[in-house]
Amino acid sequence: MQVVTTLDELRRARAALPATLGFVPTMGYLHAGHLALVDCARRENPAVAVSIFVNPTQFGPNEDLARYPRDLDRDLRLLREAGVDLVWTPTPEVMYPPGYQTWVEVSDLTRPLEGARRPGHFRGVTTVVTKLFAGVQPRRAYFGQKDAQQARVIQQMTRDLNLPIEIVVCPTVREPDGLAMSSRNTYLTPEQRRAATVLYRALQAAQAEYDAGRRDAAHLRATMQAVLDAEPLARPQYVSCADPDTLQELDGPVDKALLSMAVFVGETRLIDNLLLGYPGGVYPRYVPPGLD
Ligand code: AMP
Repeated sequence: MQVVTTLDELRRARAALPATLGFVPTMGYLHAGHLALVDCARRENPAVAVSIFVNPTQFGPNEDLARYPRDLDRDLRLLREAGVDLVWTPTPEVMYPPGYQTWVEVSDLTRPLEGARRPGHFRGVTTVVTKLFAGVQPRRAYFGQKDAQQARVIQQMTRDLNLPIEIVVCPTVREPDGLAMSSRNTYLTPEQRRAATVLYRALQAAQAEYDAGRRDAAHLRATMQAVLDAEPLARPQYVSCADPDTLQELDGPVDKALLSMAVFVGETRLIDNLLLGYPGGVYPRYVPPGLD
């Protein structure tokens, strides 16, 4: 496994790998959710690259950039064991040298949900992912359903910019009690960790209503809200039942729906979602024209 930092090192290492390269972008502090993306990439491509970069431009001024957890040695050990071929660990100076002034923005899809609560977040994400794609030049890239809006936004960006990259979305990996795995779970105290299962319990309660044929969007939102309200340590920021394609809130009976939420548990902001009406509960892969 080669580990590179500069663009010069990256380009030389990339050139030695097959054209059909799978790519998993991450912010490090890896868990089983990240490793499931790597496995998915390994199954579909003869070689796999992973990036580890805590991207400063996707964090707001009052967010957790400075204390975001990091453990590069452990990450590299896990990736070596997972059979990864190339790891790119750029520094902020490599990605944003002095004088940097170019940004990638997806418009409508980034306004609701996470975009409404984290101004500038998706501009940072789409810009860094474009730069990671340009450096790694993958044939396929792998993202988690855990960050549903991010996956939807990256698929849109890839289409809009005519990038010749397949965008594959992999299922959310959960702890045994249902909590979606996240590097940020490490911030939780034991008491908060127990309360954090409320996100998945709320989603499951809404899914049970949907499965029983009670599919009114307002009812599904109210079902999730009631479960969240019963957990004293949880402070919901938003609860949504949205159109999976446009991410606009739905009214009336729903067929396909993205149920999603952001909830503060203490100072830690957790997100989770369920995609109803899709096989496997994930967005279908985006395959650019001519790449099938
Ligand atoms: P992050 O390191 O948090 O930026 O995440 C890197 C990638 O891993 C993103 O595509 C995430 O959606 C994905 N990911 C994070 N947590 C999970 C999870 N629990 N299950 C599946 N994918 C995940």
